[in-house]
Amino acid sequence: MNVCVYTLGCRLNQCESEAIADSFAQQGFTIVDERQHSDLYIVNTCTVTSKAEQKARRMIRKFSQEGVTLITGCYAQVNEEELLTLGENLIVVPLSKKAQLLKLAAHINASLGAGFTLLEAARSFSDEEASPFDYDAASFSYHSRAYLKVQDGCDNSCAYCRVHIARGKAISLDEATVVERALALEASGFQEIMLTGVNLTMYDHKREGLGGLLQALLERLSSSTRLRLSSMEPDHIDERLLDALADPRMQPHFHIPIQSGSDRILRRVDRHYTIEELVRILERLRRIKADPFIAADFITGLPGESDEDWAATRALVEAQQFASLHVFPFSPRPDTPLFNPSDRVAESVRDERAKDLRDLGALLFERYRARQVGQSGEVILQNRKGGAWYGISGNYLEVKIDDPPAFGREGMLVSGTFSAVIAKENRIGFVVEAKVS
Ligand code: SF4
Repeated sequence: MNVCVYTLGCRLNQCESEAIADSFAQQGFTIVDERQHSDLYIVNTCTVTSKAEQKARRMIRKFSQEGVTLITGCYAQVNEEELLTLGENLIVVPLSKKAQLLKLAAHINASLGAGFTLLEAARSFSDEEASPFDYDAASFSYHSRAYLKVQDGCDNSCAYCRVHIARGKAISLDEATVVERALALEASGFQEIMLTGVNLTMYDHKREGLGGLLQALLERLSSSTRLRLSSMEPDHIDERLLDALADPRMQPHFHIPIQSGSDRILRRVDRHYTIEELVRILERLRRIKADPFIAADFITGLPGESDEDWAATRALVEAQQFASLHVFPFSPRPDTPLFNPSDRVAESVRDERAKDLRDLGALLFERYRARQVGQSGEVILQNRKGGAWYGISGNYLEVKIDDPPAFGREGMLVSGTFSAVIAKENRIGFVVEAKVS
């Protein structure tokens, strides 16, 4: 029987989907992607933008005509009734019960064995509450790197955001369990682990923080296991975290939601840092890593964003030369303080600013790639096509390896020198000195 786990949104959702897919694979189901026919679809939704919700609705409509469709994730948490109207054979599993999906495969097998249909089996599934940290994928059906969820929820209340409404207060997986799970992933052959959470820098922020967790992990993991962070909110990046990030096993790739280069707008939307503090953090990151890949999120057209505020955002981006920009035109979300603001920016201005920033982001990405030529680095092999291996470098570039080791395998770490930017394939060429770690 085929199962498709379709994921929208952040890396945390991807991590949770991996674990769900893994639990089905272990029970003998075949994991397929959305282009193939499936008997069961699990749609892991996101509520960050109205676009993500639109896409979820479109896919749910399509899937519901093909098979039993189960909807979960942040959007399902806040709009269950609306989603149930999208088609036949739909079942919504709210976030509080999402981790229960790890037991769904075994339940379906038992129910089918007892003569029930797939829809009956899915509908009769236990609705007990589960811990959000039950996700512990032993193998990853869609990725060659391991994801490890260490945090959920968020104690901030940024005025445009409804993720914290869906996910609730910040909670952290205890350090001993994180270390135990990371060691298990290492023992099963993963050479890179990405730590994920809704607001990762809020990990245990009232005590040792994310820095303390990284120090504990780095002490226990071997010298060849790499760690990467899914993203870092600026307001909890402290000295301890920066010290831990200096370890060579921490990958030189940082994703920071900045949202605006104007202090006035940051205050308006209830973000808890200033641009001066942020710039200090960026300078520190550049001191501890050589030319790290720093990706930044920005929202254009936030309520009250004047020409002056916009100029401050642009100036920040120019000055910082980020490697990549994720640009979101502001879309008012229901149930947030900014749903109907009086100081709304005209949509045409918002969209023009988004286009301008996206164009600038494309240029900065080209510049970043160009200056990697001649540098050396490490790559995790991901897939093989036409005799060449493709992978992801420590600084998060897609890499084609022209001279792959004969003994290459998915998930293997190799090192070498970046040889050229390959414009057509949108990748950097990489010449490998066959070294296996
Ligand atoms: S930090 Fe702000 S934007 Fe991010 S999840 Fe928390 S409330 Fe939402």
